[in-house]
Amino acid sequence: MKLVALPAFTDNYIWMIHDGQQALVVDPGDATPVIAYLQSHGLALTAILVTHQHMDHVGGLPALQAHLNGPVHGPAECGAAIITHPVSEGDTLHWRGLNLRVWHTPGHTTNHLSYLTEAPLDALGPRRLLWCGDTLFSGGCGRVFDGTMAELHRSLQRLAGLPGDTLLCCTHEYTLANLAFAAAVEPENAALEAARQRAMALRAAGHPTLPAVLSEELHFNPFLRTDQPMVVQQARHRGAPDDAPLSVFTALRLWKNEFKA
Ligand SMILES: [Zn+2]
Repeated sequence: MKLVALPAFTDNYIWMIHDGQQALVVDPGDATPVIAYLQSHGLALTAILVTHQHMDHVGGLPALQAHLNGPVHGPAECGAAIITHPVSEGDTLHWRGLNLRVWHTPGHTTNHLSYLTEAPLDALGPRRLLWCGDTLFSGGCGRVFDGTMAELHRSLQRLAGLPGDTLLCCTHEYTLANLAFAAAVEPENAALEAARQRAMALRAAGHPTLPAVLSEELHFNPFLRTDQPMVVQQARHRGAPDDAPLSVFTALRLWKNEFKA
């Protein structure tokens, strides 16, 4: 199977996985790049996964209806007009031999879902994949919209517990901005500097920085490092009332909201 990040808008990716005949897409914020790829590769679109209802994740659904022969899975709260087959925590979906597990990962929104699978990728062999929408980004995490800090922190802790070789298929190319913030949090982190160099080289060559590898994120994504002494110290300077991971996380997230690189 082939995993593809289709660029949309300025910094979105619509993730597609296909086997040369059928395709599944995740969070189609825009139909245009999806339809173009389907047509140029002779693929049938047979499933869509939705993580949450923000327009940059679902805006392409109406225009994809005519091209879709299969279900649209997502949170029931998104409404029957867009989600034909609601799913929730613990469900397993089956598509082209893949088992797709559904996790409820609230925080960015209260109903945010993530999807996990293991796929035989042409380029990389069997790999664990996580479609995590706006929950976890490379070098950062989503904002809290209608969820809570505690929910987002708990969701990130849960995702961080996945096997280290899991490939993170996030919806946004925010990596360089996130790493600029991470460098403000941990200026001495050598793994972070290496990640910045790599991300800059990829972007300069016009390539995505994604998917990210979970084990690497654990070395430089400050939102996954709320127990590290330097991160704790910085969060305390930014108003964290104590060293508790949630207090540290909350202070970091509020700092990031107003951070300018
Ligand atoms: Zn969102």
